[in-house]
Amino acid sequence: MAPTTRSRGCDEAVRHRFDNDSQTTVDCFWLDYEGKEVRYGTVHPGLSHLQSTYRLHPWRFRRADTGEELGEYEGPDATITFVDGAPGVRVQQGLQPRVRPAVPLGRWGVYRRRGLSRRGVGVHACDCVGEEAVRTALFTVDAMLSQSPESVVARLRRWGAMVALIGREQKVTDLPEYAHLRGKPWGARATVDDCRGLGGNLGNPTCSVGEENVTMRDDGRYGNESILVHELAHSVMDLGCAESPLQGELGRCWEAAKARGTYDPRSYIISNAGEYWAEASQAWFEATVRTDVTSGLTSREDVQRADPWLASLLTRVYGDGPWRYWHTSPAAFSGDGERWGRARAQGWDAAARRSLGWGADAPEGALAGSDDRNDEVGGVAQGIPLAAGPPAFSHTPAFTHTEHQSDPPPNVVYRPPQPRPSFDPISSVMTRLEHFLDRI
Ligand SMILES: [Zn+2]
Repeated sequence: MAPTTRSRGCDEAVRHRFDNDSQTTVDCFWLDYEGKEVRYGTVHPGLSHLQSTYRLHPWRFRRADTGEELGEYEGPDATITFVDGAPGVRVQQGLQPRVRPAVPLGRWGVYRRRGLSRRGVGVHACDCVGEEAVRTALFTVDAMLSQSPESVVARLRRWGAMVALIGREQKVTDLPEYAHLRGKPWGARATVDDCRGLGGNLGNPTCSVGEENVTMRDDGRYGNESILVHELAHSVMDLGCAESPLQGELGRCWEAAKARGTYDPRSYIISNAGEYWAEASQAWFEATVRTDVTSGLTSREDVQRADPWLASLLTRVYGDGPWRYWHTSPAAFSGDGERWGRARAQGWDAAARRSLGWGADAPEGALAGSDDRNDEVGGVAQGIPLAAGPPAFSHTPAFTHTEHQSDPPPNVVYRPPQPRPSFDPISSVMTRLEHFLDRI
């Protein structure tokens, strides 16, 4: 068969996101300068892939099982979604917020978006997950990101960041985003099924956490730390800081910390740059009382004192606001009841919620019910009461950082796609997988 489509030059760099909302694994091929297919990656059901390419480079998509061609795309930035049934591929111009369709999961109920945080990151869970966990997760997302620069938050939305809650009785691999990992090794003795949280990245922008950890009730495994803060921190670095010089700076910062001997070399925090960031993020928000995996860093002051460079990075990404995890945690970390009880007795819990524009208890409006509609407007769901004005933060975000200046403009100028749809090579999803399998 004579190739009819081929790459024709590198005049304009573009980015596409491939979202697989079908039940079928899809292979993505770049069509080279001779029109030959070069496979760049495989997108499993529920996952995404971000692809940097050029406007004049065509992409072709095929079902991985049968090889059936689903379509091609060539053109400006696009969100390309694989769906069941005809036409198999849906193309939207620009990088759109990720909106996953609701998926029925048998006895667990329907897996769907249960709410959208004010910062535009959705929380997904099956019906078996209680409202308290959903509310707490939504609030925690907003609290963590409340002082983050808009560039970080916009990238989280653009790359499709989501939080998935693993029901108390569920395994992580019961969720569509992780089903392909069922039975895969995780560490020396376990499989991924045993894991209670994974970070988000460009290959899988969904981070996850067990319901029992979010509600901090009967968590026999991680009862003294917030896994949500840890996993969302991975998403913040891998998605919110994607294509930013900040990631390189974090690597240099980690190397310097290792060389300095600041941390116990056996501790998890220093094992790699990703965990260095995630564990330090927990300390930044006092979302851990573990001293083994953190090498003793459990507070913002600890980080500032022990590792000022890292504190500077954390400040640029999260700001230096007043919220700490235990201010609003629904229950205390094990062994940490005293300060948790004091926060409630003195009304810190309600004050922290008010400062972020939330009601004293429920995140009014943030629970969107069965909301699987594409209802984002500028990344924020309609119905969330934003009209009250910005939350009355007690700190004014004040970070300036050169990386923000290189951000692409938030509103991509759309041009009509070329008549024939096409796609681009994929930096391997499997590479990213290895990365995130290392994580909690
Ligand atoms: Zn981790």
